[in-house]
Amino acid sequence: MTRNRLRSTPVPGHRDEYTGVDFNLGFHVRSYVLDLNYRVGPNRLTSVATLQLDNWAPLSSLTLDLAAGMRVTQVTGSGTAGQNIVVSKFRQSGGKLRLKFREEIPVDSEFSLTIRYSGTPRPIRSAWGEIGWEELENGSLVASQPCGAPSWFPCDDTPDEKARYEITVTADSPYSVIANGTLISKKVSGSRTTWHYRVEHPMATYLATVQVGEYQQLELGEAAGTAVRAWVPAQLKTQASEEFVQQADMLALYSRLFGPYPFDDYTVVVVEDELEIPLEAQGLSVFGANHIRGDHAWERLIAHELSHQWFGNSLGLAQWNDIWLNEGFACYSEWLWFEHADNIPAAESAREFYGELARKPQDLLLSDPGTRDMFDDRVYKRGALTVHALRTMLGDEAFFRMLHRYISVGRHAVVELVDLKREVLQESRKLGIPDSEVDTLWTVWLDQRELPAFPA
Ligand SMILES: [Zn+2]
Repeated sequence: MTRNRLRSTPVPGHRDEYTGVDFNLGFHVRSYVLDLNYRVGPNRLTSVATLQLDNWAPLSSLTLDLAAGMRVTQVTGSGTAGQNIVVSKFRQSGGKLRLKFREEIPVDSEFSLTIRYSGTPRPIRSAWGEIGWEELENGSLVASQPCGAPSWFPCDDTPDEKARYEITVTADSPYSVIANGTLISKKVSGSRTTWHYRVEHPMATYLATVQVGEYQQLELGEAAGTAVRAWVPAQLKTQASEEFVQQADMLALYSRLFGPYPFDDYTVVVVEDELEIPLEAQGLSVFGANHIRGDHAWERLIAHELSHQWFGNSLGLAQWNDIWLNEGFACYSEWLWFEHADNIPAAESAREFYGELARKPQDLLLSDPGTRDMFDDRVYKRGALTVHALRTMLGDEAFFRMLHRYISVGRHAVVELVDLKREVLQESRKLGIPDSEVDTLWTVWLDQRELPAFPA
């Protein structure tokens, strides 16, 4: 059985060793059309999800990820080439929606599934706390990394399965609804408003989001042809304009260093509640009221979240053990911002955090940190130091040329370590750096626990 996915290496086994979730094998979801009806007060979701699929294995049954709290009432199938796709049975167990077809679907068919479901969406408990759809004081947010998407829609919840989306949300009119992609229409009907968003660029399930709240829009300028805006509670408008005053400059800098901004626009949402950390989604980031005090205490993370649009969102991960490819580059992007804005060389930031790392336990493998340490700060900092080691080895000109190519080749797809290694070799060989020196760099930073010497 072939495992035809975006990734270049085979799917390892039948279960995601990081999330503990069994893979849904045999098919690919091309698109999700999510039609959500949401009531803020009772936190009640009534939805229809239509998934467009194709299958790379014959299917007499299939599974999707969906939290138990979302109760499915009807599933219908339809073949796009006039095939008769009949769902004979469905049931929910173990976080899965399990479907059986009356007749086996031959390989390479195209078909759709329409799933009606409803419930009170709640975050999913995970090794990293509660993730997914979360009720706020006055509204809701979605932050799903890494496996919270099934809290609000049936999906193939694995980072290497990117798809296109239409997200339509109907909510009471005082509320604004912000989702990924471009707002196509906004229609008022009685006391309710329907917001329709379209995501043209392939998106991983964990990056799909819906933000509902009493927000006002704030224009934050434009950079490299990309509009930057915020949605904020009215009482936080002044602080937000101050806090995000450099957001467009950050976008301009990263567009220069990493290549064109990968999406249509960039939006930040500020919720009324306090959040432990800001959260990333495709095309937008979410901050808590506590991050917006107007004192620039969180400038580092405002830059960090923006850089995830390149590292993590456009260049997705094939598997979670490569998390440093997201977080190492995002953390290094913070240092690049301060290098640009405050003339603090990245080497100085690197030196500071190297010192911090040296005082912490050296029991983590960057290439495979494991479930518990996946979001450990050491992954971020050691990841950024690995990027710094590459820059030190290659020099600025070759380093940024390599980075541009890595980002351009992996755009709107998924990347793995082999992709980065290939681009690095292309530059290192031109410079006459022996392959063995490059191999050593990878080994000491990624595959050994002990902290290597500071890159100089
Ligand atoms: Zn991050």
